[in-house]
Order: sequence, then C-alpha cells, then structure tokens
Amino acid sequence: MSPRVAFVTGGGRGIGAATARRLAAEGVRVAVADRDGDAAHAVAAEIDGLALPVDVSRPGEVVAAVDRTVAWGGGLHYAYNNAGVTGVLADVADYPQDVFWRVQRVNVGGVLAGMRAQLPHLVAAGGGAIVNAASGAGLAGVARSAAYVASKHAIVGLTRTAAVEYAARGVRVNAVAPGLVSTGLVRGIDRSAFADAHPAGRPARPEEVAEAVWWLLAGGSSFVTGTVLPVDGGLLAQVPGLG
Ligand code: NAD
Repeated sequence: MSPRVAFVTGGGRGIGAATARRLAAEGVRVAVADRDGDAAHAVAAEIDGLALPVDVSRPGEVVAAVDRTVAWGGGLHYAYNNAGVTGVLADVADYPQDVFWRVQRVNVGGVLAGMRAQLPHLVAAGGGAIVNAASGAGLAGVARSAAYVASKHAIVGLTRTAAVEYAARGVRVNAVAPGLVSTGLVRGIDRSAFADAHPAGRPARPEEVAEAVWWLLAGGSSFVTGTVLPVDGGLLAQVPGLG
C-alpha cells in the first residue's frame, strides 16, 4: 500500500509540529502548512515532508496548498486543522470588534477553508479523517476571551456538522479540546493559577495532544466521529471549589 498523506496547519511549531512528527513516525507523509514559512520548512526538513507557507485565513491559499499536497503525495487521507490565534484580553462589552473578526477569520475561517478543500479529496481517496483544534474554551466560557471562546465553540459546531454530513461517505471528523498546553501560544501562563487548576497539576506537553490527534486520525478510532475529545488533565471534569 502506498503511504498515507496528511495535511497539518500550524505545523511549524507547538502542537501542530508535534503532530507532524507523530504522524511521520507512523510512516505518514506530512505536508506542514504554516503562515511562518521558515518554521514550516524546518519541521518539513526534519520529517522529509512538504513545507507549505500558507495563511489559513485566505481560502485561496488553503485550496492551493491542499492541491499541492495531493499532487505531491498522490492523495489525501488525513488532515489536522490546527492553526489558531488568541486575540486580546477584554470583557465582552469592551471587546474590540476588529480583533474579534480577525480571530474568527483565522480560527473559524481556517477550519472551514481547510475542510472545504480537504473533504472532496478524502472522499476521492475512499475515506479518511479530519481533526480540528478546538479547546476547553470551545466547551466552556473563559472570562475576557470572547473572540477565542466564540471561535472554538464555532469549531465544535463545524466539526459535528461535517461529521454528520460525511459519515456515510467514509470520512470521520472529530476535534480535540486541550486544556493548557506548554507552547508559545500561552507563554507566561503555564505557571499560573490556570495551570494549577488542572487536576493533573500541570499543563500538557504538545506530544500528549499529538497522541490524541493521532488516535482520532488513524490510531484505531474507526467508529468515532463527531466527538470533541478533552485532552486536559481532568480540567473540565471538575466542579471548582468543591471537594
Ligand atoms: P503555537 O502558537 O505554538 O503554534 C501555532 C502555529 O500556527 C504557529 O506556527 C503559527 O505560525 C501558526 N499560525 C497562526 N496563525 C496562522 C495562520 N493564519 N495561517 C497559518 N498558520 C498560522 O500554538 P499551539 O499552542 O500549538 O496551538 C495550536 C492550536 O491548539 C490552536 O488552534 C490553539 O487555539 C489550540 N489550543 C492550544 C492550547 C494551548 O494551551 N497551547 C490549548 C487549547 C487549544
């Protein structure tokens, strides 16, 4: 059987890079898409993958990058739509609208553009799987983070909808919902009260989220679709202040 092919956005660093490495370790050929072309090239060089400088908030660039991946690898079997940004800290009444929509364009627009480009190829390959990067902030509110929280809730909705639409066509669509993960995105808050709130007593390592993504893509999850898998050391399982 020819090697499977995966497309990973935000693959230049953090959880995306860890996932690209995890997939490559399983013999998957990985296209590393990232707005930061140098970071994409560095990870792709490490794993003999394809580097794709792409801004996921620009749908035309996403289509071109997915098409290049298919031409390079001979098909597409897996996608991890992971690129994301956070916005600013402000209460809802003060939240700057331009920042709000910029975050939606990257986080929600990027996942929609990704799935629009990927789904026809996954169906053409006879089936496949997508994982989208949600967050604990896609399942619960977080003060002063309206744009990020709204975007991650939208990703949960997009994931469930695509899962329902494509299940009969052999494509599974799931999301991961990490708690705090030690990456550049959250530099400075991994020794905070938020980190301490995780029952596990620490943030996740990017590799721990990558392991969950691998399982949802190809690690034996053949009847799992439309789910949002918390990878959060128990964060969302608890009722704070009790016990
Ligand atoms: P990170 O900042 O370490 O890496 C994100 C990567 O995405 C970077 O390489 C960046 O260049 C790229 N990127 C950003 N905007 C892009 C765009 N418009 N087009 C293409 N690439 C773009 O972040 P991370 O912590 O690895 O987060 C990855 C995903 O996981 C995000 O969607 C984030 O919301 C989600 N997440 C992170 C945490 C956490 O605690 N780190 C928790 C829950 C969910």
